[in-house]
Amino acid sequence: MISRRKTRQVTVGNVRIGGDAPVSVQSMTSCYTYDIDKCVAEINKLDQAGADIVRVAVPERKDTEALKEILKQVKVPIVADVHFHFQRALESVEAGVHKIRLNPGNINDRAQVEKVIDACKERGIPIRVGVNEGSIVERKDKQKRLKELGGVFSDNKHGHFLAIMIAKLEEYLDIFYERNFHDIVISAKSIDPLLVVSAYEEISKRFDHPLHLGVTHAGPKETGTIRSVVPLGHLLASGIGDTIRISYANDPIYEVQDGLELMYILGLRTRKGAELIGCPTCGRIQVDLFTLIQQVNKALHEHIQLPIKVAVMGCVVNGPGECEGADVAIFAGDKRGIIYVQGQKVANVPEEQILETLLAETRKFQDKVIRGEAKLGEKVVDILPPDPIGELGSGYAKIEAGKAAAVSLPVMKN
Ligand code: SF4
Repeated sequence: MISRRKTRQVTVGNVRIGGDAPVSVQSMTSCYTYDIDKCVAEINKLDQAGADIVRVAVPERKDTEALKEILKQVKVPIVADVHFHFQRALESVEAGVHKIRLNPGNINDRAQVEKVIDACKERGIPIRVGVNEGSIVERKDKQKRLKELGGVFSDNKHGHFLAIMIAKLEEYLDIFYERNFHDIVISAKSIDPLLVVSAYEEISKRFDHPLHLGVTHAGPKETGTIRSVVPLGHLLASGIGDTIRISYANDPIYEVQDGLELMYILGLRTRKGAELIGCPTCGRIQVDLFTLIQQVNKALHEHIQLPIKVAVMGCVVNGPGECEGADVAIFAGDKRGIIYVQGQKVANVPEEQILETLLAETRKFQDKVIRGEAKLGEKVVDILPPDPIGELGSGYAKIEAGKAAAVSLPVMKN
């Protein structure tokens, strides 16, 4: 169980960030905000996928003009992402957004910042102060500031950037404090995962505002997943972070899916829908497990609402031990699959019937749980495929017959 750092709570529409609120998952639209229909469709798609909060870019007046209409057609809280033009923040507040994101690197005129603070205060709207490493100071001053502040964190590889991010943040937040404004969320993103870790660790010692975690410009999902999940997972596991956005150069739906999965595996959120575990396959496999697991994943996503643990295993050699705790399990081999539900064998079917049978059995089990006749992960059972050579055949066909008899299959426990 992760013990989370206590932060002040802010409210974004109907979502709380910080304090005892669960870590929320955010994403950002990739279409033009002024294209109302597209923007509404994308926001609603992200909402359906499980996003708690969605951010939209508002670079132009026509974007903030569109916001009013967009807000009427969506339920999830909306954040206006403002850069360079403080007027966009004021217009967004006027349109009714639920949070403003300001970048101290490009909105730093004190009078302008004060106007935004006052407008948000009047409407009870929080502000995220996002100090991206790439835009923390005006380009012309950057080298000078780096030199001035370089010694502050001299023991840290990223000392220069860390120092300048913290200094800029402190300077900026003073404007907020002077106006008695504390509905603040902080982010400190970088493309460098190690700088991200250092920055958030340092900020968490200095401020009690909730933290929005993220790695900026993480790239395509293929490489961006590791770049994002390693630092975010590390910070969350050490109790730092109140809301996250994983950012990919890809359909933002993946940001939500991966953000939620990160919450689930860290035990920071209660899983919605089935949990799928699967073997990586090896030379024992005798069904098309890669295709099967994709199909099972899709079917579970579409049909299963409860957090039922489903295991798809290529054979019975390691399968039973590796899927310990699964409610539903299938062990494949010799073009067939044996399906177990909480330890009871319920089917032995040819490969082409595995998917439909597994789904049917999982749905049947879900109905039983809903009716109160079964409990998730409760039964202590033995999964002992009765005659692996006979029923599943080739999983053991590669093992000498004399040795196969000595293989003892483990007992399933809770
Ligand atoms: S479950 Fe069987 S097929 Fe899958 S990786 Fe383990 S030993 Fe190989």
